[in-house]
Order: sequence, then structure tokens, then C-alpha cells
Amino acid sequence: MKIVVLAGGIGGARFLRGLKAAAPGASITVIGNTGDDIYLFGLKVCPDLDTVMYTLGEGINEEQGWGRRDESFTVKEELGAYGVEPQWFGLGDRDFATHIVRTQMLDAGYPLSKVTEALCDRWKPGVTLIPMTDDRVETHVVLTDEQGRRAVHFQEWWVRLRASVPAEAITPVGAEDAKPAAGVLAAIADADFVILPPSNPVVSVGTILSIPGIREAVQAKTVVGISPIIGGAPVRGMADACLSAIGVETSAAAVAAFYGPALLDGWLVAEEDGPHFSSPGLEDVAVRSRPLLMSSPEATRDLAQAAIDLALELTGRGEGR
Ligand code: GDP
Ligand code: CA
Repeated sequence: MKIVVLAGGIGGARFLRGLKAAAPGASITVIGNTGDDIYLFGLKVCPDLDTVMYTLGEGINEEQGWGRRDESFTVKEELGAYGVEPQWFGLGDRDFATHIVRTQMLDAGYPLSKVTEALCDRWKPGVTLIPMTDDRVETHVVLTDEQGRRAVHFQEWWVRLRASVPAEAITPVGAEDAKPAAGVLAAIADADFVILPPSNPVVSVGTILSIPGIREAVQAKTVVGISPIIGGAPVRGMADACLSAIGVETSAAAVAAFYGPALLDGWLVAEEDGPHFSSPGLEDVAVRSRPLLMSSPEATRDLAQAAIDLALELTGRGEGR
């Protein structure tokens, strides 16, 4: 079985752990979001790629969901002592090493996809992890605060402001001129089906789909998505703030409509959302209600198994739609 997953950070990475457990023999390719990438202290930081790599490579800080376990923050403290900004982004000492290696390789001329492959040589995530693009794409957020109306990097809105100021627009800057990284389109074309895990639909999956060519390639496959929204609220995090910014209601049905019937063939919703699920235009999407909470390794594996089962049921039927 060949499976492609379009993944953001924490939600995507946790789901992937369940997917590996549910389908130990499968060949899994993960197309990772790089719209959250940011240069800090001259270093290229790829939060979503690293969260997938550390989570699947057993190096993640489990409680936090991002960053390294057994981490210390000496470099951050020392930078702070020099008054060097930003102080709001938590980079630990072990994590710094990853960004140093990555930046060195990028400066030497390797594309991000090759660098990611090299980093994965150490972490052995058990999946093929490919960034959506080797080109620079940065998600920016337009907001109005005491400094007036301005665009900030997504991380500044998400991490520093905790999405407390409403986003007026969210844009993946550079996406329209970006090309899918080597291997992305081939992996999708070769896949038996594509899964959209419980990742942020706007700034993770949406950003990946904004790279020209990726949406078209995915649309040609059987696609099963898992709702990141349960009972009108994100399970964790602030995905509702991203959805409001683009005028999409925070509901399982609205997120499915945002992905659209041309893309989605199957949609898993929470058991409480199943009975009232209705979305005009989505009649052709196979909706199933299942336990959607990734509350334990077993629950996460069962969720992944439910996505596989639905995809296999729909394979063939969804192709070429
Ligand atoms: P990312 O988008 O993959 O970087 O990951 P986040 O951790 O930001 O989570 C993205 C989305 O997944 C959020 O909108 C959450 O509501 C959703 N999410 C987190 N945990 C779960 C879960 O256990 N089940 C489901 N269905 N969604 C979840
Ligand atoms: Ca399809």
C-alpha cells in the first residue's frame, strides 16, 4: 500500500504515528508544510518538518508536542542576555543543532528536500518526508494593532500574539511562483490514496495545496480527510482563528466544503457531528462518523485504520473525479 499524507506539525505528526501502527507494511510519503518556516538568528527553522521528524523519530517532547525531549535552553538564555530578539520563539539547545546543520547545507547549495532527507538519516522516521517545495514560501498574516495595519510572519501572529489579534488575511507569500519539491508529484501520482490528517486546514494543508500542481495531483486520487474540528471547536490550538480569517465557519462541514467536493472523496467526522452533518454540494463525499480524538496510541491507530478503510472502500470510485 502506498499512502501520501499532507501534514502540518503536531496534529499531522501524531496521526502519522497512528498510521505507521495501523499499516506497518505501507510505504508512506509525507508532504510537509513549509509555510511556517522562519529565519531566526540567521538559521532556517522548519517547525512542521521538524515536528514530524522528531515525533516519528522518537525525539519529540511529548507533553509539548514540538521541540526536543530532555531539552535545555542555554543558547536562548545567552541570546536573551545580549538582548537579541526574538525571545518569543522557543528554540532549545538540541533543536539549535538541527537548524545549524540545515542552514549549513542550504548555504552549501543543497535544496531543502535533500537537507530534509539528510536530517532524516539520523531520525529514521519510517516515512519519506518531503517538503512541499524547495522554494521559499512564507505564510503572512495581515492584522491591525497599535502599530497600524501590517503583515507579520505567521509565527509572530501564532506564537508571539497567540492569535489574539484577529487576522484580516492569511497569505502564503511566494506560493504562486513555487514549484513542488522533487518527488512530490511523483509520490502523489504513485499513491493508492491520499490522507488529509487532522492538521490545520488553512495554514498547514491549505498551504500545501496552494503550491501550483499539488492540488491538481491530489484531486486525481482518492482522498480521505479527517476533521480537525469536533463539535464546532478545534480540538487543540487556534485553528478557528485561521478559519474566521478566511470566512470559513468552525465546523466539520465547513472545513469539508473548504477542501471541496472535487478534492475530497471521504470525510471522517466525530461521532457527535455525524447525525447533523449536512453540507450542500458535498453529497458525493462519503461521510463517516468515528471517534476522532487522538487520545492514546491505540485511539490514534484506530483513527488511522478508519481512514485507510474508507480510502480502500472508495478507491476506484474516487479516481479521476
Ligand atoms: P498542524 O496543523 O498539523 O501543525 O497541527 P496542530 O497541532 O496545529 O493541529 C491542527 C489541527 O488538528 C487543529 O485544528 C486541531 O483542532 C486538530 N487536532 C488536534 N488534535 C486532534 C485530535 O486528537 N483529533 C482531531 N480530529 N483533530 C485534532
Ligand atoms: Ca478525488
